[in-house]
Amino acid sequence: TQADIISKGLYSNMSEQKFDFDYLVIGGGSGGIASSRRAASYGAKVAIVERTVIGGTCVNLGCVPKKIMFNAAHHADSLQDLAEYGFQGVNTSGWTFDWKTIRHKRDAYIERLHGIYNSNLSKDKITTLHGVGKIVDHHKVEVNGEIHTAKHILVAVGGEPTVPTDVPGHQYGITSDDFFKLDVQPKKVVVVGAGYIAVELAGIFNSLGSETHLVIRQEKFLRTFDEMISDTLAEEMKQHGPNVIQKANVKEIKKNGEKKTVVLDTGAVLEDVDQVLWAIGRNPKSDFGAPSVNIDRHDNGYIKVDKYQNTNVPFFYALGDVCGRAQLTPVAIAAGRKLSDRLFGGKTDAHLDYDNIPSVVFSHPPTGTTGISEKEAKEKYGEDNVKIYKSTFTNMYHAMTTRKSKTAMKLVTVGKEEKVVGIHIVGLGADEMIQGFSVAVKMGATKSDLDSTVAIHPTASEELVTMR
Ligand code: NDP
Repeated sequence: TQADIISKGLYSNMSEQKFDFDYLVIGGGSGGIASSRRAASYGAKVAIVERTVIGGTCVNLGCVPKKIMFNAAHHADSLQDLAEYGFQGVNTSGWTFDWKTIRHKRDAYIERLHGIYNSNLSKDKITTLHGVGKIVDHHKVEVNGEIHTAKHILVAVGGEPTVPTDVPGHQYGITSDDFFKLDVQPKKVVVVGAGYIAVELAGIFNSLGSETHLVIRQEKFLRTFDEMISDTLAEEMKQHGPNVIQKANVKEIKKNGEKKTVVLDTGAVLEDVDQVLWAIGRNPKSDFGAPSVNIDRHDNGYIKVDKYQNTNVPFFYALGDVCGRAQLTPVAIAAGRKLSDRLFGGKTDAHLDYDNIPSVVFSHPPTGTTGISEKEAKEKYGEDNVKIYKSTFTNMYHAMTTRKSKTAMKLVTVGKEEKVVGIHIVGLGADEMIQGFSVAVKMGATKSDLDSTVAIHPTASEELVTMR
């Protein structure tokens, strides 16, 4: 194991060998880039292998272009509020949205980001190898037929959307990757799935004016979150869309010319659909070679790692979406930096603490969450040891508007000292609110710590320090 290698001193023997690189990273996404650059900052000789464009899912097919579309959708949501805030002469009802304009601007922005990423890599003297990186043996990776040797090898190849290949006509559906390639806004769209991507993309389509149906196989979406989040969002969706179709699975997709017909197992049929989008989860990428090296994986394909991102094979590490845990860009970045701190910076115990990782779903309104849900807290600490504080209100922003949107907040506290183990927010501004509060949770704040913080008025976040 990695631990044996280090404890038996084999590690230093290996370091005597000559390699092309100290560190070879397969995958130029957020995690791979962050780890490479941190390693280079310690003077390591680093190479990064990328088969398409630099930046990975987040920059090219995820967070970044999604947030731009979310911002566009946010404008659409609030357009009708303008007149109610006194703006005159703004056409707030008969608007049309030019999907192509934002697509081109978005692509140009991502192109600029590629330039910045590539120039940072070359400033840090990191070699970029373009092609598919295949592990062929210990310390050996093949890229475009050429073998490169490295002492340490990181697998940070990410994941890809899952497509249900057992559903007849599944190929007529698109994935989140294709969402970012759409040139034309679909008039009618069916989004299938119940996680982050389904809720975010259905919300964007809906706000931008597509007739949107969100098909979920259970009663609720975002089931891994505190129930307050899914319940509040479900109420919002009832009022503002998208149309949620519960307890339904897609039985078949039929193609009629450019249009699709979606047949559900409930008997319902959705006709004249322009796009069906699968958002039912993601799988780890697996084409990084390695059969001779035997890197252990879970049954679902995710690479097994310990808390130091070590795989079972010495000198091989993995992080990010290919490991399956907390598939979030900042998690991969943080894990990547810690790994390089450990391997090249002399910080022998450096590793990422995976507890209390905050996250946001860019829904309408957005959600912010950190720590554990009420249900998880009750299971973990016993019902009697958990005290919940809740608040539901309408943000003051909506005092001037006929369009209303709810805000709901929950503090999950445990024990006599009322340690805050979870904060859940859904409502205007939740996406920006949660980061600061997650610092408090990470530091072990109690309810009285929150109470002793003076409120900022008038804001929505003041509610979190004044709950009774
Ligand atoms: P998720 O794992 O979040 O959600 C997928 C959900 O789809 C499942 O939980 C399941 O919910 C449902 N599902 C699974 N199989 C089927 C099926 N056959 N038919 C219908 N529904 C199905 O996956 P996503 O792809 O949405 O996102 C992947 C990850 O990417 C997220 O977990 C997150 O870590 C990250 N991400 C983060 C974002 C952010 O930070 N804002 C944004 C986007 C992605 P159920 O069991 O309830 O049916």
